[in-house]
This record gives sequence, structure tokens and C-alpha cells, in this order.
Amino acid sequence: MSVTTEIKRLHDELPESVTLVAVSKTHPAEAIAEAYEAGQRIFGESRPQELRAKWECLPQDIEWHMIGHLQTNKVRMIAPFVALIHSVDSLRLLRVIDSEARRINKVIDVLLEVHISAEESKEGWNPAELEECINQGEWREMSGVRIRGLMCVATNTDDTGVVRGDFCAMHELFLRYREVFGSEFDTLSMGMSDDYTDAIACGSTMVRIGSTIFGNRYYPPRA
Ligand SMILES: *Cc1c(COP(=O)(O)O)cnc(C)c1O
Repeated sequence: MSVTTEIKRLHDELPESVTLVAVSKTHPAEAIAEAYEAGQRIFGESRPQELRAKWECLPQDIEWHMIGHLQTNKVRMIAPFVALIHSVDSLRLLRVIDSEARRINKVIDVLLEVHISAEESKEGWNPAELEECINQGEWREMSGVRIRGLMCVATNTDDTGVVRGDFCAMHELFLRYREVFGSEFDTLSMGMSDDYTDAIACGSTMVRIGSTIFGNRYYPPRA
């Protein structure tokens, strides 16, 4: 399947309420340009240097999303152009994004990443930590960030019952915190190539799809 075919198929298949992020990490600019020609405008990357290099050489109307773990010392590299950071996993990182955004007179949209899976190594807040951070309320003073919703990576297993359990738990958190954050909290980023249909069934509003569109990645992502 070509990139063009897959993009068109996904645009036809996905419900209108679901936004497609084409995850282009490790793939060359030519592959992104092909997806762009097919009508895709939102792309996700997981490394700041790669994101910046691609932003510099591809059309300016692309919306770039940061989906991978972000170190605080890399925020400045992407802050001027990033449209949404999915992977905010600590209060410290949220503070750095806020202050950098204010420094450059911008408001940066972010999602809070929740560690919903049972696996040890996954990034993100566990639900109890998230609750504490939200109750603590420091985010209310942060004029440089707009908290738009939640993101997760489900447990990596073939057991769809487990995967759906993760997604449904996320949906509950999403509904609960929407009452706190209000109507601009409108994004639930969950679902990847292997599990996006389950994610959508559980209320996802944004799917992050890489290998289905672009094929296997050229080199393994660094943790
Ligand atoms: C790489 C990646 C994806 C895309 O995964 P595929 O299985 O290739 O669709 C989605 N989300 C995150 C956070 C990723 O790192």
C-alpha cells in the first residue's frame, strides 16, 4: 500500500470527530510530502531535532505535534512552531513549557500523558499523580499553556480486552477532568496502528498512526 492510498483510506474511514495525526518519525521528508499531497496536514514526531529539521524543510501549513518524551532542555527548540505537545508527563516539564511560551509571547497547547498501562517502562503520570497535580492547581496560573486533554499509550498486548480496559479508563478520566478544565479540554489522544479502532470505540478524538501509513520505521525509536 502506498502512503497516498493509506492516507485516503484513513480520511474516508475515520469518523469526523476523530483527528488523524500521521506519525512520521524516522521517515524521510519525501514520505511526509507524499502524505501532504494526499491531503494530510497534521504530523507527529518524537524527537525534537528531527521535528525541527522537518519543520524547516516542509510546507509551512503543516501542524507539527510532539508525541514523544520531551526533555526540558529541548523545549526551546520546538516551542516557536509546535502545534500540540502530547507528552507532558511532569509538572516540571509543564512549567518549562509555560515559561518558554510566555517568553516568546505564545500559548502552547498541551496534553497530559497518562500512564494507564500495567507496564513499568511507560512514561506519563499515573492516575493518582495526575489527580494530585490537577488538585494542586498550579496550572491555573500558567498563561503560556492551554491544557487541551489527555494522551496515553495502551498496554502492548494482543489481548484486546486489556487494551479496551485501558482506553475506557482513559475516557473516564477525560470526562472527569473536562469538568475541571472546561470546554477547551476537548482532546483525548489515544490509538495507534494496531489499536485505533478500539480507541475510537472508547471515545478517542485523536489517533496517532505511523506504520499503517508509512510502513516499518527505518530505525528503532530511542527510548
Ligand atoms: C511511534 C508512535 C506512534 C505510532 O505508532 P504506530 O504503531 O507506528 O502507529 C503513536 N504514538 C506514539 C507515542 C509513538 O511513539
